[in-house]
Amino acid sequence: MTIPVSKNDIADLDIIGMTHDGEGVGRVEGYTLFVQGALPGERARVKVLKVKKQYGYAKLLELLEASPDRVEAPCGIYKQCGGCQLQHMGYAAQLRWKRQHVVDNLVRIGKLHVAGQEAGAGAVAADADGADNAGNAVEVIVHPTIGMDEPWRYRNKAQVPMGMGPGTLVTGAADGPESQRLIGGFYARGSHRIIDMDSCLIQHQHNDDVIAHVKAIGRELGITAYDEETGRGLLRHVMTRVGFVTGEIMVVLITNGQRIPNAERWIERIREGIPNVKSIVQNVNTRKTNVIFGDETRLLWGSDVIYDELDGIRFAISARSFYQVNPVQTVALYRKAVEYAGLTGSENVIDAYCGIGTISLFLARQAGHVYGVEIVAEAIEDARRNAALNGIENADFEAGAAEIVIPRWRKEGIVPDIIVVDPPRKGCDPALLETILAMKPRRVVYVSCNPSTLARDLRVLEDGGYRTVEVQPVDMFPHTGHVESVILMVRK
Ligand code: SAH
Repeated sequence: MTIPVSKNDIADLDIIGMTHDGEGVGRVEGYTLFVQGALPGERARVKVLKVKKQYGYAKLLELLEASPDRVEAPCGIYKQCGGCQLQHMGYAAQLRWKRQHVVDNLVRIGKLHVAGQEAGAGAVAADADGADNAGNAVEVIVHPTIGMDEPWRYRNKAQVPMGMGPGTLVTGAADGPESQRLIGGFYARGSHRIIDMDSCLIQHQHNDDVIAHVKAIGRELGITAYDEETGRGLLRHVMTRVGFVTGEIMVVLITNGQRIPNAERWIERIREGIPNVKSIVQNVNTRKTNVIFGDETRLLWGSDVIYDELDGIRFAISARSFYQVNPVQTVALYRKAVEYAGLTGSENVIDAYCGIGTISLFLARQAGHVYGVEIVAEAIEDARRNAALNGIENADFEAGAAEIVIPRWRKEGIVPDIIVVDPPRKGCDPALLETILAMKPRRVVYVSCNPSTLARDLRVLEDGGYRTVEVQPVDMFPHTGHVESVILMVRK
C-alpha cells in the first residue's frame, strides 16, 4: 500500500488500542501509527515522527477528545522514566485492558473461543477441536483481572543503576564542581542516561530508604560510579530486597572489580543507617555488558539469605535467586494455581520451572508428591532448603532443563496427575509440550507472564487433547504493561 503520511505531517487520529508498552494505536487510512501517551477511545492530534513500511510513530500534540479513563500520573518522573507505562490510565481501566490483552492473544494466536467475546476481526470460526458434541464452540472463561486494593509501593526488589551526575531531579542541585557526584535512579526512557531519583512509587518504602542511604554514604566516602563508556569507576548497581512479612533487608553492591575502598566503614555505616539489614552482599561484574550481575557473589556481612513468608510458608532467598517481586499478588496467583490443580491429597504433581520451589511447596501441602525442576542449580539448592525449613517432606527437586529432565522422569516411570508450568517469557520448550501430551496428566495448570507465548502453547496442548477451561489474569505489576495469568486445562 502507499503510505498515507510523511515525517512531520500533522494528523488527527482515533486511538483504537494500546500496546503493552503503553503506546496508543491509531490508524490513518489503514496505516498504523503508535502514539506514546494516547489512550484507547481518545481522539488525538499528532505529529508523525518516523515512517516505516508497515507502521510508524507519532508524537501526541493535543488531545481532541480525552478518555474518561485518563488520570494525572501520580509520579513526578513518570514521563522521563521508562519503568511504568500505564500511570496515565486509571487503575480500574488498567485491569480491564490487561484482561482484554489476554483475550486478544487467546483469540488471535491461540484460536480459542472466549465467552462473551464478540466474534470480531480476530476471532475464527469453530473447528472440530473447538466444538462440543452439539457442534457448539466450547468457550473459555476469562475472569476479570485480580487487582490490588493498594496498587502502589508493591515491589520487594529494586535494582538501581548508579552514575555520576548533577544532583537529584526532585530537589535540584547546585551547578559547579559539586555537580559531579554519585547518583542513582533510572535510565531515561529509551536511553542509557541515568537520572537521579529519590522515590519510586511502586517500590516498598524501605527500598527507597536503602538506596538513598547507600548513595549518601557512597558520596561521603568518595565512591565512584561505573562509567559504561570508559569501563572505569566502581559501583554499577545497588540491589535491595525486603521481605514484606519479615521486614528483613538484603543489600547487594554490584561492583566493577573486587576491591571496595573503605569497605569496613561502608558496611558499618549501612548497618547503622538500616537497622533491619540482615545481609550485605557484593557481586563482582567487570564485563562490558548490560547484564546487571556478574558470576562472583561474596558475602560482606551477615547472612547470605533473607527470609520472607508467603501464605505461612517460609522462604530463604539468596542474592541471585528468582523470587516474585510483588508478594501480595504472588499469594493470589499461587492460591489460584493450587485451586486449579484440584488436589485431594494423593496426587503426583510436577512443577516445571519451579525456581526456589515456591509453587511446589504451596502444592505439596495438598498433594501426595511434588517433583520440581528448574535450570538454575542455586535455586534448586534454595528449594531443597525451603522444603526442609517448612518440614515439607513430599517434595523432590532436580536441577536441569525441564524439557530434558521431565522426559527422563517419564522413562523412569513417574506418572503425574497434574503438571504445573511457569516458564519465562519465551514460553515452554516444544519438547516439554510434547512430553506433557505423552504423559497425559488429568490437568495442566499454566502460569504465564507473556500472553502471546501462552496462547501459542495453549494451541499446541489443545491440538494434543486438552481443553482450556478458565483463565485468571492477576495484576502482578500495576502501572506497567506486564500481564500475568494462570490457566486451567483439562484432558478432553
Ligand atoms: N515458579 C517460580 C519461578 C518462575 S520464573 C516462581 O514463581 O517463583 C521461571 C523460572 O524458569 C526461572 O527460575 C528460570 O531460571 C527457569 N527456567 C528457565 N528456563 C528453564 C528451562 N528450560 N528448564 C527449567 N527451568 C527453566
